[in-house]
This record gives sequence, C-alpha cells and structure tokens, in this order.
Amino acid sequence: MKKIYLDHAATSPMHPEVIRTMMKVMEADFGNPSSIHSFGRQARHILDESRAVIAGSIGAGQNEIIFTSGGTEADNTALTGIAFSSQARGKHIITTEIEHHAILHTCHFLEKSGFEVTYLPVGEEGIVSPDDLKKALRDDTILVSIMYANNETGAVQPIGEIGRILKNHQAYFHTDAVQAYGLADLDVNELGVDLLSVSAHKINGPKGIGFLYVKNGVKHQPHLYGGDQERKRRAGTESVPAIAGFAKAASIAQASREEKAKQYKEFKNIMLSVMNEHGVRYELNGSLENTLPHVINFSFPGTNVESMLVNLDLAGVAVSSGSACTAGSIEPSHVLVAMFGKNSERTKNSIRFSFGLNNTEEQVRQAAEETAKIIRRLLK
Ligand code: PLP
Repeated sequence: MKKIYLDHAATSPMHPEVIRTMMKVMEADFGNPSSIHSFGRQARHILDESRAVIAGSIGAGQNEIIFTSGGTEADNTALTGIAFSSQARGKHIITTEIEHHAILHTCHFLEKSGFEVTYLPVGEEGIVSPDDLKKALRDDTILVSIMYANNETGAVQPIGEIGRILKNHQAYFHTDAVQAYGLADLDVNELGVDLLSVSAHKINGPKGIGFLYVKNGVKHQPHLYGGDQERKRRAGTESVPAIAGFAKAASIAQASREEKAKQYKEFKNIMLSVMNEHGVRYELNGSLENTLPHVINFSFPGTNVESMLVNLDLAGVAVSSGSACTAGSIEPSHVLVAMFGKNSERTKNSIRFSFGLNNTEEQVRQAAEETAKIIRRLLK
C-alpha cells in the first residue's frame, strides 16, 4: 500500500512552488541583505517583499515582524523578552496548562528566574475559561500567553474575548498561533494581541523559519547579541531563501484557506462515518465545533497508543499521539491530562489525525478503514 501521511500538525511537506522559490533565491540571490552592493540590495529587496506578504497576512505593519528560527524561538523570545523588560511593573505571568512545551518550558525557566506563573486549567473540551483568566489577573501581571489553538486537539481558544478583557490592563497579550496560522483568519488588531508566534513548516514552508509579531510600542528585550538585523531586535544574518519560501507558503495558504477548511471538514466526516460503519467505540478529545479544521483527536477505549501507532505505521499510515516521544516511549500527553485528569485512560489510548497538502478523500477513507481493522484486532 502507498503510504498515507496524516501527521501534518507535526510537520508538513513543502509545497512545490515554495521549493521553486527557494531554489531560485539560493542560486541567484545569495547576497547578504545587510550589504550595500547590488547583491545585498537584491537580497534586501526579497526580504522586504517577503516581510510585506507576511505582515499583510495578519494585518500587521512590516516593522512589527521579527523573523526567527521557528515557533520555538518566537515563543521563547516573546516570553523572556517581555518578562525581562517589564519586571519593574511586576513579576506575574499567566498561561495555560495546555501550551506547547516551547511556552511551558520557558515558563519553568522564568519561574527559576524569580517570576511567578499561573497555569490556567481547561475544561473537557480543552478550552480555557475567560472567567478563570479574570480571576487570575493581578495588578502585577505583566504578560498573558494563551495559544490560539491547541496542537494536539485543535481546540480553538477564546482569544478575541481574552484580548477584550486585557484591553485596559497593563499585561501584554501573547498568542502562539503556530498551529492555527494558515487555516484560521488571524488579524492582530481584531484579536487585540500584542505578540503572536508563527512557524513556516506547519504551512508547507521550510523548517527553521518563523516569525514573532511584536506590536509597535511594546518594549521587548532581544535575546541574541550581535548585528543590527531585524531592527536590532534579532541579531544574525537573515535566511533569505527560507524567508522567501515562507512568504510563498503564506500566500498560497491564504488563497486556499476556505477551500481547505471545507475539504478537511469533509475528511473528518469520512473518518467518523467509517468508525461508525465498523462499530468502533471512540470518543473525541475536543469538540467538532471550536476546533481547527485539520486536526481530529480520537480516544479508542481498550487500545493502547503505542501499539496503535506501530500497527498504523506497519499499515502505511503515519499519525501521531500528539505528545512527545521520549526515548522510544510515549509520555502521557499533558494536554489530555489537563482535560481529563492524570488517571484517565484517554491519556493512553488517544491518536491525533491531521490533514494537509496532497491528502485525498480516498486516503482518509483508507486510513480510517485500517484504523478500524487494527482496533478490532487489538481488542480481540
Ligand atoms: N507551538 C506550537 C503550538 C506547535 O505546534 C509547535 C510545533 O510543533 C511549536 C510551537 C514549535 O514550533 P517549531 O517547530 O517551529 O519550533
């Protein structure tokens, strides 16, 4: 059987047009954008054009975009950059229990550095409550970081509502939009966010490039020391080919957003109807409403995530548990623990399917059939 890739939330294949764009830049436009000669000016021109596309995709100004090495660096620099530059106004930070480790581990570092962090819980749908945020807010809160949508369940958080709550509070508002960008309609002004993180490899762009949006006027301490690139906010020669590829991926994603959302919704329906036809027992981790179109997370009672993943891989279907895989064993997902408690069976029997470029209805149906077959075998 031809292999079926349904793990686009982990990473996605590069779009052929992105590869072509990058090849051209690598071959012909190799200059350093900081050089004043024509080679440098050509690279600067590509950088400026790419920045305009990226800024436009979230309703930002061009000088509000800082290119980074990906989502992890954008998240790290958002948190540490705000914490260290705002500590005279307070040392309290609020985030959630379901953030990506790029946020959670940075918060642990900040706790060791003298900051206090409140981790908001979520309900069984994996969504944070704006009331809990209101209760946690204090006069000395300097930063609130809540992801736009969760990478394991797809659960979309009430970012616009939280933005309104924070409007008259001193705390800056950061959202990790790594998993949502390209499929959600993001406008930083409508959302009321001050900082926003994105990564290219989730949207058919190259790995190792991302950006942090930082609203004009937000004081933010850089975390790298060196040259004056990115308006002195992120030192290091910009990866012009990766940035050009990122901009190409962003514009393709924007142009096809609605069509993809419709297609992935249909993929979810196919998965559910195959499960139902085969009488497979399942529960969904998260709802079908407040969710990203490309992510669906199933709990299959009586199964075990490790044997499911191995059997699916043998059948040619690449999916994921959504959580970290450490030294060959799969740690219970902190997201599912936050939703259902650490003793819940769901933390050990859940699988994330995520759709993307080149997936077809036929592939999704076949993957669902294989899943149903494996479950029947495992439950015997
Ligand atoms: N934030 C979220 C929600 C993610 O899903 C990921 C990647 O899995 C990251 C951050 C990290 O991004 P990157 O792989 O570009 O460092």
